Amino acid sequence: MAQADIQTVRTSKGQEIKVHTHLFINNEFVPGNGPLIETINPATEEVICSVHSADESDVNAAVKAAKTCFQSTWRKVSPSEKGRLINKLADLMERDKDEIAVLDALDNGKAFTVARDVDVTDSIACFRYFAGWADKIHGKTIDTTFDKLCYTRHEPLGVVGAVIPWNYPTMMAVWKFAPALAAGNTIVMKTSEITPLPLYKFAELVKEAGFPAGVVNIITGYGQTTGSYLGCHPDVSKMAFTGSTVTGRKIMESSASSNLKKLQLELGGKSAQIVCADADLASAATWACGGIFNNHGQSCNAGSRILVQEDVFDKFMELFIAETKKLVVGDPFDEDTFQGPQISKLQFDKIMNYIKIGQEEGAVLAHGGKRHGEKGYYIEPTILTHCKNNFRVMQEEIFGPVVAIATFKTIEEAIEMANDSEYGLAGGVYTSSLDTAITVSNEMQAGTVWVNCFDIFDQSTPFGGYKQSGFGKELGKYALQEYTQVKVVKIQRAGL
Ligand code: NAD
Repeated sequence: MAQADIQTVRTSKGQEIKVHTHLFINNEFVPGNGPLIETINPATEEVICSVHSADESDVNAAVKAAKTCFQSTWRKVSPSEKGRLINKLADLMERDKDEIAVLDALDNGKAFTVARDVDVTDSIACFRYFAGWADKIHGKTIDTTFDKLCYTRHEPLGVVGAVIPWNYPTMMAVWKFAPALAAGNTIVMKTSEITPLPLYKFAELVKEAGFPAGVVNIITGYGQTTGSYLGCHPDVSKMAFTGSTVTGRKIMESSASSNLKKLQLELGGKSAQIVCADADLASAATWACGGIFNNHGQSCNAGSRILVQEDVFDKFMELFIAETKKLVVGDPFDEDTFQGPQISKLQFDKIMNYIKIGQEEGAVLAHGGKRHGEKGYYIEPTILTHCKNNFRVMQEEIFGPVVAIATFKTIEEAIEMANDSEYGLAGGVYTSSLDTAITVSNEMQAGTVWVNCFDIFDQSTPFGGYKQSGFGKELGKYALQEYTQVKVVKIQRAGL
């Protein structure tokens, strides 16, 4: 017998929340035909509950709902009404902010305060930002030589398929929902099978906000089955994907072998933070510490390589280690926790193995390196120094609280080291010289460069990678281009 939709889950503080565990298709929670998937609390290693997953017939049903709704309803809804609905959704998220944040923290292991004040707060702001765009998306009129009336229209793509990772279960979804809906598309979102819970709460709010059935459909399931069915579906016009570079390649193959659907790939990173000798070192140490250890090092843009000018290496390390020692690792629901557990046993083992590999390669363990506590996938914030650019810990995405630190002599050498990576998502430079800041920013092969700060995001500024960190932009006006296609209309005037 199918598991009942509503299950009760508990936090470490005894708070109980009722969650949906069925798929959300056509504004209804429906059982899925795929296997039940257990979702694990990474802080306790215990099962939180099981959720239904989507098999091929469920994916087909979700895409059909989205396609039917796009053609019959959503494309006829006025842009201002779309904006109103998106704003209404933001209001409901604001009302239920704590509950969504609890589910983010429970399922992912991030600190509840971070989930509430960063992930959910920024998600609400993202919806409001794109709600404002809904009635401001338009083309141009173009004068032509032949006296025709010529204009462009920025039209929606139709059904958007979205696949997201587990590291920001709510925010990664909203970064796609908000521009996709504002631009007039319908959407089928596959959550990560590791963190399915927060978006089912969100689904309730979609219905309550009054979105027509089929505009938003949310399913979960394993990547190689559910994700792949979505990626290969002929009625999906575009795949918006965030995840690893390995999976990004598979999504490209799915597109190539199906209907050449458009792609937006937000992939992995190995971002460099360059600390110049003329920097305010205390400030650099604080920013660089957050730059790597925010979200337990599980951010695509994590500044996981720090390059320090050799004259200030000792001083910087003293400050950086002191900052790192201040980070409180613990239960996500403790008020002062900065860092919770890593997402899974798989990630825990992978990260611990990288710490070992780094030392075997010749890195010096300057701080951390061990499991934190007895239970849960906790790892101490870890600092590896004396790294060389060819070390695996300098080249491969560890996706955990581990930073690899190397030194450089000249700015030219620092730029060369920063660019010696298959990734190009982001980077940072700490310096008091405007000239150095501009030189490094211009030369860095990365989609975002932070100067004297790191990991700062805003709804109005674009984010996306260079090189094998993917292509396409999330956030900002640029994101709208990813969810629209341009049509040109040429009208022959009578008598001309
Ligand atoms: P992942 O690639 O393993 O999985 C991401 C999603 O893809 C999951 O939902 C998974 O089920 C699905 N998937 C797996 N195989 C698939 C397939 N063949 N077809 C369709 N879908 C498939 O990544 P992860 O471990 O969940 O997340 C970590 C990765 O995400 C890191 O590499 C990180 O850098 C990246 N990331 C990038 C950004 C960005 O904006 N650039 C943001 C967050 C995370």
